[in-house]
Amino acid sequence: LSTADKAEPQRICVCVRKRPLNKQEVTRREIDVVSVPGKGTLLVHEPKQKVDLTKYLENQVFHFDYSFDENATNEMVYKFTAKPLVESIFQGCMATCFAYGQTGSGKTHTMGGDFTGRQQNSTKGIYAFAAQDVFAHLNHRRYADLDLCVYASFFEIYNGKVYDLLNKKAQLRVLEDDRQQVQVVGLEEVCVYSAEDVIKIIQTGTACRTSGQTSANPNSSRSHAILQIVLRRNDRASTLHGKFSLVDLAGNERGTDVSSNDRGTLVETAEINRSLLALKECIRSLGKNSDHIPFRMSTLTKVLRDSFIGESSRTCMIAMVSPGMASCEYTMNTLRYADRVKEL
Ligand code: ADP
Ligand code: MG
Repeated sequence: LSTADKAEPQRICVCVRKRPLNKQEVTRREIDVVSVPGKGTLLVHEPKQKVDLTKYLENQVFHFDYSFDENATNEMVYKFTAKPLVESIFQGCMATCFAYGQTGSGKTHTMGGDFTGRQQNSTKGIYAFAAQDVFAHLNHRRYADLDLCVYASFFEIYNGKVYDLLNKKAQLRVLEDDRQQVQVVGLEEVCVYSAEDVIKIIQTGTACRTSGQTSANPNSSRSHAILQIVLRRNDRASTLHGKFSLVDLAGNERGTDVSSNDRGTLVETAEINRSLLALKECIRSLGKNSDHIPFRMSTLTKVLRDSFIGESSRTCMIAMVSPGMASCEYTMNTLRYADRVKEL
């Protein structure tokens, strides 16, 4: 392991990633309004109009721990975001990595990569790189004495309800005991022995996600998908040692922008907004070392409660933005949110 692996990660890291213009945007001759002039800076050239109706672009500057431009690979993004968190769970931390942004901005591409063929380094996402590193660490002599086993679970949260993607989308209850420990009752935790095992679980879960037989068969962009990689001691109680939650969040677009205004969609959107607001507040409390973590505000934050409590929490948020002028308003919303998350 290199010295970079040993670096103590900061507790909260907020990054931004810009995807390239896609084919349709190029065909529409959309203007790229996002640029990344330096390692931690991102500029939005926001279209504005003067009183005399002349149009101009106003530069909005944002600063983050890292900003990745359209040439960044998933491997590079991984290295600066989730990789230090893998190290931290071996030291007993509860880590989370969030992909945040509007639908189509690259959340699933960043987390999952491309599953159409056997995954290569060029098509892997954060899930695969993280899984690979977990097993590299596990087999390293520095951690051999810990005698750890690796487990994985994969579930989604839709309209505030939890569905197990490794068990036919069974709906699960979230319970909090008198010691404020939160449990997802009956969540399938599969023992995994290799990175390939983790990939298989994601493929199984993803297929289950889109093919469900229950009433909860949403467009996947409207639900949060959570992959958890759990380290347990090989003792009689299977004591929890560390946990890494990788979260592909629901699209953050607002209800007013959704073309359909039927009741179901409005409820869906309200629930998403609530959970993303709760998430922001929980991460901010963590950053402020506040005693009060408002994790009860949403199912998402309840389920991730462990990750917001105490000295051993580590969080990384990757805010994804689309570069096109037509997405500018969404992009600004995403960046303002990410900005608030890191602001103490
Ligand atoms: P989201 O999950 O945020 O809705 P996706 O990850 O599905 O968005 O991305 C939408 C489309 O853009 C997909 O076809 C994806 O492959 C492509 N895409 C996203 N990010 C990138 C990137 N950094 N480089 C190349 N293509 C990307
Ligand atoms: Mg997606």
